Amino acid sequence: MQENMIDQIQQKYFDRNLPWIVHWELVYGCNLKCQHCYTFHEERKNYLSLPQMAKIIQQLKEMGTVFLTLSGGEPFVRDDIMDIIEMVRREFFCDHPFKCYIN
Ligand code: SF4
Repeated sequence: MQENMIDQIQQKYFDRNLPWIVHWELVYGCNLKCQHCYTFHEERKNYLSLPQMAKIIQQLKEMGTVFLTLSGGEPFVRDDIMDIIEMVRREFFCDHPFKCYIN
């Protein structure tokens, strides 16, 4: 029954082309260099700024996104990663559990 309800909700997002789940790759760089990795290993500094990210987060919120993954590369190579996490938690997912996985 619950699985059917989730399917119905998911279908509504698909029908309206809305992002239900978002996987956001914040950076290319990483402090490791795993052979199997698909990302670039050199660091690039042309990240989106915090104000640019705030706009995107607001748009995701308005579209009803329910699950957001911050990924990379390794997102913690960004000096402002804690500001980003706080912004997401405050503006978007404050009532949801926050989980952090790092390499
Ligand atoms: S992003 Fe992940 S897979 Fe890629 S080098 Fe870093 S730890 Fe390894």
